Amino acid sequence: MRQSQTAPEYFDEGALIGVLTAEPLDRMLDYKAPEGGCHLGAFVEVPLGPRKVIGVVWGAGKGDWDIKKVRAAYRVLDAAPMRLEMRDFLRRSADYTLTPMNAMLRLATRAPGLGDPPSMRKIYRRGPSEPERMTDARQKVLNTLAEYGDLSFTLKELAELAGVTTSVVKGLVEQGAVAEEGSPRDLPFPRLDPSLPSKELTEDQATASTYLADAVQSGNYGTTLLRGVTGSGKTEVYLEAVAAALRAGRQALVLLPEIALTAEFLKRVQERFGHRPAEWHSGATMTERRRIWRMIGQGQAQLVIGARSALFLPYQNLGLIVVDEEHDTSYKQEEGVLYNARDMAVLRASICGAHVVLASATPSLESWANAESGKYKRLELTSRFGPAVMPTMKTIDMRDAKLPANRWVSEVLKFEVQKRIDAGEQAMLFINRRGYAPITLCRACGHQVGCDDCDARMVEHRFQNRLVCHQCGESKEMPTKCPSCDAEGRMAPVGPGVERLGEEAAELFPDARIATLSSDMYGSARALKAEIEAIAAGGADIVIGTQLVAKGHNFPNLTLVGVIDADLGLQGSDLRAAERTFQLMRQVAGRAGRAEKPGTAMLQTYQPEHPVIRSILEGDEEGFWRAQAAERKAAGVPPYGRMAGIIVSGTDLPQVFDLANHLARMDGPLRAVGAQIFGPAPAPIARVRGRHRVRMLVKADKTVALQGALSRWAAQVKLKGDLKLAIDIDPQNFY
Ligand code: ADP
Ligand code: ZN
Repeated sequence: MRQSQTAPEYFDEGALIGVLTAEPLDRMLDYKAPEGGCHLGAFVEVPLGPRKVIGVVWGAGKGDWDIKKVRAAYRVLDAAPMRLEMRDFLRRSADYTLTPMNAMLRLATRAPGLGDPPSMRKIYRRGPSEPERMTDARQKVLNTLAEYGDLSFTLKELAELAGVTTSVVKGLVEQGAVAEEGSPRDLPFPRLDPSLPSKELTEDQATASTYLADAVQSGNYGTTLLRGVTGSGKTEVYLEAVAAALRAGRQALVLLPEIALTAEFLKRVQERFGHRPAEWHSGATMTERRRIWRMIGQGQAQLVIGARSALFLPYQNLGLIVVDEEHDTSYKQEEGVLYNARDMAVLRASICGAHVVLASATPSLESWANAESGKYKRLELTSRFGPAVMPTMKTIDMRDAKLPANRWVSEVLKFEVQKRIDAGEQAMLFINRRGYAPITLCRACGHQVGCDDCDARMVEHRFQNRLVCHQCGESKEMPTKCPSCDAEGRMAPVGPGVERLGEEAAELFPDARIATLSSDMYGSARALKAEIEAIAAGGADIVIGTQLVAKGHNFPNLTLVGVIDADLGLQGSDLRAAERTFQLMRQVAGRAGRAEKPGTAMLQTYQPEHPVIRSILEGDEEGFWRAQAAERKAAGVPPYGRMAGIIVSGTDLPQVFDLANHLARMDGPLRAVGAQIFGPAPAPIARVRGRHRVRMLVKADKTVALQGALSRWAAQVKLKGDLKLAIDIDPQNFY
């Protein structure tokens, strides 16, 4: 069984405490414990210069300040103290990612109003009196209250449930038939009921779900890779693991790529457990975030569905973490704290005795290798549920297509799309490129419009009528004359983006209803999700989309997926180019044929003989992973070796190179552990937001404690001016 946490240490008023704040300071600060004393782990408000800041009591004070100058903490906040395991988790993830503790604390306290007292709102319940005059509407309200027993509601909830206007409720309040009371805003989440019936599972599914339920029940740490094609019932299976956690009285977390958090998914959870879970994502309101943060700390939220940062919420008793679409690159945070939520989920679970389920149709090579070596348990769902079968995969050899200029849809693909439209089915055209055209070129002088602050071309977004830099987000108006040679009216778009493909489709299929989906075309993630759901419900004949349509959406009527450029991801020297292309193509193809109708996926390619394209087509996944694994083993790269990306950046190029060269020469601490350093060299994108970037790469054996060596190495230099040194452990991107 899990160890119970030792009773928190206590500091009497005036005792010296060490407080960790989220301020960019490189040490804990000493204070005197506030009036009434405080627990270890307590959230406290402390003076810092003229300001009040929030911190966590991390231990006894160091006592290396003049005791007379040590100030007293103001007060203990009204929030559950940070638990020992959470402090452990922050410390160990800081060590792993080489991140300062204050930045980790910032991640763990991303809830607004932490220092505020719980605010109040009005709630309504049955009052002592009867109304003087009964009407139908009034009766409905009283019936609703009777039906739900001693639950209380907000005005809006009660009116909606009863199907009356809010003024009806207000009228009943005046007569004392309904009582209006103040109540804390941060209400507990409704209890979830794991005993509601689950779907009847297939044999495969039942075996997997029994294994997971037992693993969760055991209360020990473990990780399972749950593999199965899209539609094989992975969600169904891990919801049973959630049920086991709930039964054991423990909390569960399901991590999803941001965009996959759909109403459809939440509805399934609600059907299984009776209520909606807590939802933690970028679209959540401030009040909702605050409520979730607090309720999780008090054990009054049992299930959280969230994006990667949900991992840093203050769970009281976490028993299960599911990472759905575990291979998804959005789990790696690429700014600020450079962490991979999948890896940190495993770390967190190992600290608190939780089970981890990594679910994917196309796992990352890392997870595949861990399952191969026996470090992770592997469970397989081999077929799609019900009549749905994996789509038939075909290539279209573009060398034979002989397309006219500025056309990207081959005759073959056009014919197949038309066939689906005629049959009343949906087709999808996929291109993994946002905007209208990747290049804007002057036909007079050949100049390509670039970003002023980055070493990158600007991408035309016709929908916004602007050129946008995909590196820094800067945009400018479409130029009418060439910025280089001043020629008028000679600027032309080159190459396809999703918007341009939409335009071509409109010409090819004039009678079809076409929906173009790209993350930048909708104001919010919510608006985009609403659009996707409308399409899934039959709102379009042709869906044109980027990567985001590949993630977790069900299009029941979709029977054809056409990939415009299957070669796109194979360019470049990225270590994971093959893996990513394989995953993406299999995932996109998996959108086709989810219901009774079989699906087809067609890949337009100029290199149909490429080994990656071949293995996508043949669907020999094991063969593909084995070949990839052999290549990486031979090269000594992850997951068979360790790697760190080093990025030195600054506004002054000579200074940036000086620092990088200096670091490369001072490689003693790295050599001492047998690590090698490569570079420095200008980064593939050599300037971003006006900062020059130089990269180095550090490689070491799998067994080497690389982080310690890296921090000793980095500690040899003092960063002057605006120079920055970023260390990216297990880098996913190499730009
Ligand atoms: P995955 O997560 O692997 O993509 P899902 O769990 O979403 O698969 O299952 C695909 C579809 O099949 C869903 O609509 C799901 O409800 C349904 N389904 C899967 N297994 C069963 C089952 N045993 N009984 C009924 N419906 C099922
Ligand atoms: Zn830019």
